[in-house]
Amino acid sequence: MSQISITVDGAKLQVEADQRPTHIFAENKEIVVCKVNGVLKDLWTDLVDGDVVEGILISSPTGLEVLRHSTAHVMAQAVQEVYANTRLGIGPPIKDGFYYDFDPESTFNPDDLTKIESAMRKIIKEGQRFKRRVTTEAEALKELAHEPYKCELIGIKGPAGEEASVEVGGAELTIYDNLGRDGNPVWSDLCRGPHLPSTKHIPAFKLMRTAAAYWRGSEKNPMLQRIYGTAWPSQDELNAYLELLAEAEKRDHRRLGTELDLFSFPEEIGSGLAVFHPKGGIVRRAMEDYSRIRHEEEGYEFVYSPHLTKAALFETSGHLQWYADGMYPPMILDEEYNEDGTVKRAGQQYYMKPMNCPFHNLIYRSRGRSYRELPFRLFEFGTVYRYEKSGVLHGITRARGFTQDDAHIYCTKEQMVGELDSLLTFVLNLLRDYGLNDFYLELSTKNPEKFVGEDSDWAEATEALRKAATAQNLELVLDEGGAAFYGPKISVQAKDAIGRTWQMSTIQVDFQLPQRFELEYSATDGTRQRPVMIHRALFGSIERFFGVLTEHYSGAFPPWLAPVQAIGIPVADTFADYLGDVIQQMRKAGIRAELDSSDDRMQKKVRNAQMQKIPFMVIAGEEDQKAGAVSFRYRNGEQKNGIPIKDAIAEIKKVVQERTQV
Ligand SMILES: [Zn+2]
Ligand SMILES: [Zn+2]
Repeated sequence: MSQISITVDGAKLQVEADQRPTHIFAENKEIVVCKVNGVLKDLWTDLVDGDVVEGILISSPTGLEVLRHSTAHVMAQAVQEVYANTRLGIGPPIKDGFYYDFDPESTFNPDDLTKIESAMRKIIKEGQRFKRRVTTEAEALKELAHEPYKCELIGIKGPAGEEASVEVGGAELTIYDNLGRDGNPVWSDLCRGPHLPSTKHIPAFKLMRTAAAYWRGSEKNPMLQRIYGTAWPSQDELNAYLELLAEAEKRDHRRLGTELDLFSFPEEIGSGLAVFHPKGGIVRRAMEDYSRIRHEEEGYEFVYSPHLTKAALFETSGHLQWYADGMYPPMILDEEYNEDGTVKRAGQQYYMKPMNCPFHNLIYRSRGRSYRELPFRLFEFGTVYRYEKSGVLHGITRARGFTQDDAHIYCTKEQMVGELDSLLTFVLNLLRDYGLNDFYLELSTKNPEKFVGEDSDWAEATEALRKAATAQNLELVLDEGGAAFYGPKISVQAKDAIGRTWQMSTIQVDFQLPQRFELEYSATDGTRQRPVMIHRALFGSIERFFGVLTEHYSGAFPPWLAPVQAIGIPVADTFADYLGDVIQQMRKAGIRAELDSSDDRMQKKVRNAQMQKIPFMVIAGEEDQKAGAVSFRYRNGEQKNGIPIKDAIAEIKKVVQERTQV
C-alpha cells in the first residue's frame, strides 16, 4: 500500500493511502466529524496526498449540529419503521436540538413519540454506519419516487432556503445509506451530510413535542407534522438541559404575568398587543422612572412623537424600501369625494411607526444646529408597531406593539470615540442597576458586499466601538460582516439567573440616515458638516425588558420594583387595627404597603403573600403590639421578630433606595 502525507490538526503525518479520518482519530471518540482542507466531511471520507485534516469534537458548535442532524435522521428512520407510509420532509439541526417534518397517515400523538423513541434506541444500539453515496438527479428521482417532498427538493437544488440546504445544498447530490449489521443498507435518505460515523455515536437524545408546520414554511403548501427533539454529548448534559427547560417554564413571563396579575393579551385587542394591569403598571413605572432620572443625569433631552405619520417620512428614511414587510399596512386618510362618488381629492397614506428615528431626525432638523449643541442626545419612550408574523410572537418579549426606550445621539466625528465609550459604560451600569450583571459584548462589522458610506468612516467607527468594548474588560465576540448596511454596532448580551443569554442594548452607528435627512451642523470654521448619528435602545423595549426581568427574578422582583413591597398580616383579627396603623405609617413613608384584611386565616395569608412573591410580610401579634413593634417574614422563610416600627420602615426604605434584592 502506498503512503500519503497529510496534515492532521497541524502535525505532518505519513499514513497508508487507505486510511480515513475515522482510522486516524480512532483514539479520540469525541471526534465525530472533520474538516478536510476547510470543508466539513464525514470521518469516512477518502483522503489524498497533501490533505489538511482537522478533527471536530462532538461538543463543539459544529459537532453538536452534526450530532443533532444525525439524530434527526435516526428519528426519520424510526418513524418510517413504525409508520411505514409516512413521507419525509426536511430535518435540520436547530438551537439545542433538531426537528424533522413528516407527512404521516394520521396525526402523531404523545404516545407515538414514546414508540418512535424506542425504535430510535434500537437503531442507535445497532451502530448503523452512515454511508455517503453520490447520485445523479435522474437516479435520485427514480429512487425516491415514493418521497414527493424529497423529489421537490431535488428539483430546487442550489440554494433552497437555509433549512432545506441540509438536504440538497451541497455541490453534489448525495444519498446517505444506513448500513445494518451485515453491511447492507437498511434505510436511505437524500442528504448533503455530513453525519456522525455511525448511529452509536449518539450518546443521549429525547423527543420533545410535535407541531404542525407548512411544507417549506408556506401557507400555500400542505400542512406537515413536525417532531422536535434534542440530542447531547452525554446523558448529564441532556438532563441539565431538561432541567433548564423545566426551570424556564416555571419562570415563563407569560405564566407569571397571569399569576401575578401583571399584564394580559385580550383577544379583543389583537395578538401581540398587551395591556398592563395595575400591578404590572407599578413595575413598569418604576422601571421607566429610574431610567428617566438616569438619562437626565447623563444629559439626554426627552421628546415625544406621534404614533402615526404620512408615508413620505418613511420614504425619506428608507423604511418603506427595506422594512415595509415589518410595518402595518397603510391607512388612506383625508380622501374627498364628489357627489357622484368619484374621488375629488386623493387621500394620503399614513403608517403606524415601526421606529422613532425619523421623528428625532425631524426634531434635529427643525432649526439650524451649531457644533456647540453637540452631542445632542434625544430620548423618547416611543411606542412602535411592527407587524411580526403570528408564529414568532412570544408574550411581551416579542410583541406587535411595544415601547422602546429609544435614544438618538448626534455628534461630531471627533466626539464619536468619547461618546461611544461613555455610552457603553452608561448602558452597562444601568443594566446592572436593574440586577443583570453577567454580560458579553458582540461587535458587528461591515459586510463588504452591502454597505453605505465611506470605508474610512466604517473603519473609524468600528475601531471606536472596539475600543469602547475592550475598555469594559468583558468578553468580546466578533460578528464579522454581521453589521446592517448602514453602520457597525455593539450589542450587549446579558445572561439571566439561569444562564440564558438575552440580547439587551444595542449601540448602532448610522451613516445613512444623516445623509437621507440631510442633517447638518455649522462647524467651528463656519462650514456645514454632517453629524454622526448613534441609535441606542437600552432595554430594547420596555415590555421585552419587563419580560426578561420577570423571568430573571422568577417574579420575585427586588423591593424597588415589586408592585407590593410590604403586606401586613395580623396573627389574629384582634391585631388588625394595630397593624393597619403600622401599614398606614409605611404608606406615608412612601412604601407600597397593604394590609391583608381578608377573612383568611393567618397561614393562608402567608401562603398568598408567598404566591404573590411580596418581599416583606409584616406580621403583628400580641408581643409585637405590646412592644410597639412588628415581625418580618422574608421570601426565603426567615423571620425577624420585635422590630420597632421606625426600624422596620427604615429597613424597607433602605433596600428600596439601594435597589438591592432581599
Ligand atoms: Zn442528513
Ligand atoms: Zn433609531
